[in-house]
Amino acid sequence: MQPKKNIMHLPVYQPGKPMEEVKRELGLSEVIKLASNENPFGCSPKAKEAIVSMVDQVSIYPDGGAVELTQAVAAHFDVEPNQIIFGAGSDEVILMLARAFFVPGDETIAASPTFPQYKHNAEIEGATFIEVPVDEQGAHDLDAMLAKVNEKTKIVWICNPNNPTGTMLTEAQIKSFMEKVPSHVLVVLDEAYAEYNVTDQYPDGFKLMKQYKNVILLRTFSKIFGMASLRIGYGIGHPDVIRSINQVREPFNTTSFAQKAALAALADTAFIDSCREANAKGIRQLTAKFDELGLPYFEAHGNFIMVDVKRSGAVVFQALLRKGIIIRHDAGWGYPTKIRVTVGSEEQNNKFLRALEEVLSEVAVS
Ligand SMILES: *Cc1c(COP(=O)(O)O)cnc(C)c1O
Repeated sequence: MQPKKNIMHLPVYQPGKPMEEVKRELGLSEVIKLASNENPFGCSPKAKEAIVSMVDQVSIYPDGGAVELTQAVAAHFDVEPNQIIFGAGSDEVILMLARAFFVPGDETIAASPTFPQYKHNAEIEGATFIEVPVDEQGAHDLDAMLAKVNEKTKIVWICNPNNPTGTMLTEAQIKSFMEKVPSHVLVVLDEAYAEYNVTDQYPDGFKLMKQYKNVILLRTFSKIFGMASLRIGYGIGHPDVIRSINQVREPFNTTSFAQKAALAALADTAFIDSCREANAKGIRQLTAKFDELGLPYFEAHGNFIMVDVKRSGAVVFQALLRKGIIIRHDAGWGYPTKIRVTVGSEEQNNKFLRALEEVLSEVAVS
């Protein structure tokens, strides 16, 4: 038995330790997870009711086309239903894009560091993944990315705001990029954190998409909508692009529970507004303390902040873990002294900041 060569080097995804296990091993009564950009306020109560209402339908296959939800999202954003595709999280839309578009030898371009699934799926399909370092501010270097585009380029991935740095590209920046990028290149705007935006600079992806056939937006119900466990996200783009993705989609890729919950969540704008507001407040709370502690951070436009703790991120991660706080650090980011922390509730943020201050006094500056 021989699996294909281009997957041999891929690591198996290592999930974070379950919170209950962390509690038991470290003898902690409380663990706060600020590691996966989950919504600290859960999901809309209307989404919960929708899930409960579906319980007797467990034995029935879902609507593979997610017709009702597609119509609702189309109306919400004023696009046509044939411009929308749902996936088991936007992760699956990324997978389907790679499956539909890449053949071995194709090239694809993204920032570094950025969301890891672009690279993962490109490599599975045998495409060459070209990484362009972000700039000093942690932002995409669009000119350098453009310089890598050639006739072999199939997809450019733009993560906005960028996970893990948190930085945002403005409408003017994306527009100028789109004017220069050749039309044979599909530009994926991953907007997983779009709903957290509180600036007037965030690109209107829908306007761009109407102007350029080669733009596709990715959105998700996992982040501000607080439904990460249900696995539902979507792509919005030109009908031809959406059709290609639909051709590789598994027939029942999203569940009835996810579809019904998403439908209810989409309508609960009050919940989203309150989460957006709390998040902006949380960013101010965290950055005020980082300023006081003299820790530099990238401008945060999602529900997470990348901060330079001026000490080994791995050591700070372990020290915080012993105090019951889980954050992220990653050797692969190329930032050995930076950590990424999800914005929690005010109380969670306070507990994190208190623990961080203790850790900083225990761990030597590197
Ligand atoms: C979380 C995230 C996603 C995907 O989340 P799903 O749960 O698969 O919808 C996609 N892109 C970015 C940048 C993310 O941070």
